[in-house]
Amino acid sequence: MSEIRFDGRVAVITGAGGGLGRAYALLLASRGAKVVVNDLGGTFDGVGSDTAAAQKVVDEIKALGGEAVANFDSVSQWESAVKIIQTAVDHYGKIDILINNAGILRDKSLMKMEIEDYLKVMAVHLNGTFFCTKAAFAEMRKQNYGRIVSTASAAGVYGNFGQTNYGAAKMGIVGLMNCVKQEGARYGILANTIVPTAGTRLTATVMPPDVVEKVKPEYVAPLVAWLCSEQCDVSGNIFTAGGGYFSRAAVVEGPGVFFDPSREITVEMVVEKLDQIKSLEGGREFGSALEQTGYALSKLVSI
Ligand code: NAD
Repeated sequence: MSEIRFDGRVAVITGAGGGLGRAYALLLASRGAKVVVNDLGGTFDGVGSDTAAAQKVVDEIKALGGEAVANFDSVSQWESAVKIIQTAVDHYGKIDILINNAGILRDKSLMKMEIEDYLKVMAVHLNGTFFCTKAAFAEMRKQNYGRIVSTASAAGVYGNFGQTNYGAAKMGIVGLMNCVKQEGARYGILANTIVPTAGTRLTATVMPPDVVEKVKPEYVAPLVAWLCSEQCDVSGNIFTAGGGYFSRAAVVEGPGVFFDPSREITVEMVVEKLDQIKSLEGGREFGSALEQTGYALSKLVSI
């Protein structure tokens, strides 16, 4: 198998001043990518800013013989997100790879959550991913090439107590990527989503210290690197990765039941068929909303 390399490629990694983003930056740079290390440098819950985090990772990459430049803007406003992508264009002439990774947490149960905690988490995760993706897409489209990897979470895909803001933002990112997949296809732009598990300052709030130490961000990075590579041949996929475990997750729809819509469809008819309606046996993934709607209406149209 040929080595996966990024020579001549330019990558922007948001929130790369620590944790998972740092691991991605070091891996891509070690394989030839020129990297924009973005990080606002605030606290884990999104307060303040500090240039030290991004600069430290740039220094690390350079000390290892790699090429990188720091950017300290926030992903959460359109104007500053544009500046992040522009840093790649100004320094390296283009952007080939975007990893939407920046993130914060403001966990609280629904009843205790302040509106500000909801809005702040949405702003960094969902708005930040949208803004950076939109700005990068404009550049990628010009060159008919791009790789976008965004970051969701099991909290969104499967749910978690105390994370309604975070879960909503993270599942929103999946919806965003499903649509970017459609729009990017004709320009050679692939968009995928990673659901990571790693010991970082974010998970230090919920994982015991020895687990944080063991579940290294470096265990997630190899799959992300493949998703960023020329060799990647999938788009719109969700991958889980952490602690040596790699897998694909997907939304699957069961074959369901079809009633004749020219006759009355009663509640009792639906209840009677619930086992069949709930069953995922023989289920499938749909590549687009159009495909799913086509299936759902197939019997109606043929009646
Ligand atoms: P981390 O705190 O180490 O990294 C997040 C980085 O994003 C920080 O360095 C932070 O300064 C930066 N950041 C925050 N707000 C920013 C903004 N507005 N603009 C630019 N940078 C900003 O945590 P991590 O665990 O490495 O998280 C990386 C991503 O992975 C996040 O999106 C997180 O939600 C996601 N995630 C992590 C895990 C896990 O197990 N660690 C699980 C699921 C999802």
